[in-house]
Amino acid sequence: LLEVNHLSKSFGNQEILKDISFHVEDGEFVSILGPSGSGKSTLFRMIGGITKPSSGSIILRGENIIGKKGHISYIPQSSSLFPWRTVLQNVLLDQELSGKVDKERAVQLIERAGLKGYEHAYPHELSGGMKQRVSFIRSFMNPQSLILLDEPFSALDEFTRLSMHKWLLSIWSENKKSILFVTHNIEEALFLSDRLIIFSEKPANIKAEFTLPFSRPRNTELLLTEPFLQ
Ligand code: ATP
Ligand code: MG
Repeated sequence: LLEVNHLSKSFGNQEILKDISFHVEDGEFVSILGPSGSGKSTLFRMIGGITKPSSGSIILRGENIIGKKGHISYIPQSSSLFPWRTVLQNVLLDQELSGKVDKERAVQLIERAGLKGYEHAYPHELSGGMKQRVSFIRSFMNPQSLILLDEPFSALDEFTRLSMHKWLLSIWSENKKSILFVTHNIEEALFLSDRLIIFSEKPANIKAEFTLPFSRPRNTELLLTEPFLQ
């Protein structure tokens, strides 16, 4: 689905990313781990078309997407919800932009996320975990098949984080999207991913990459029947 080839990025004379190459297959969950400041968010901004790389290519389904927005669904490190839009309006935003709105499915996903009754609430009326779920629903409603998640759980308490993991895996496996996920939490990466990519210190390049060999408890039936923490 996605191919990143020999990607490098410098800001001024500071080299941040150096010769990064990796790929993401259809339906794969790939995590990127690396020290703070190594350039993970910069990589996401380049894949999202917001920042241009100094060299290299980013190919999505055969098309070079450098400098092009709207080809992937990107949830930045800080909240991506619009405060003046309700939960439902936020969830439908990406679809409105692409012109095809499925309100029924949005309401269904909001309910599944334990947010029934909050459709018309505003972001400031929600907890951090709830806001995150709204961001996720929005990205899964986005018609694009690749979702970039930049440290989506770093601000959550451990209970909320665990319930978010299960919930994310269940909607991910249902929707057959590909996820590229940045985290500092190794345990989280091991639980969620099919494959791990580890960045080295500055300038970052890929220090190690491995596919997780075991089949982990990704039985969504089991996950869905577990009580859902609000
Ligand atoms: P964290 O784990 O803390 O989120 P990160 O791996 O996401 O870190 P980035 O945010 O990508 O790191 O930043 C990588 C480096 O690039 C940092 O040294 C940062 O100061 C620098 N940087 C990022 N954006 C710019 C910019 N627009 N101009 C200059 N330097 C930048
Ligand atoms: Mg970052």
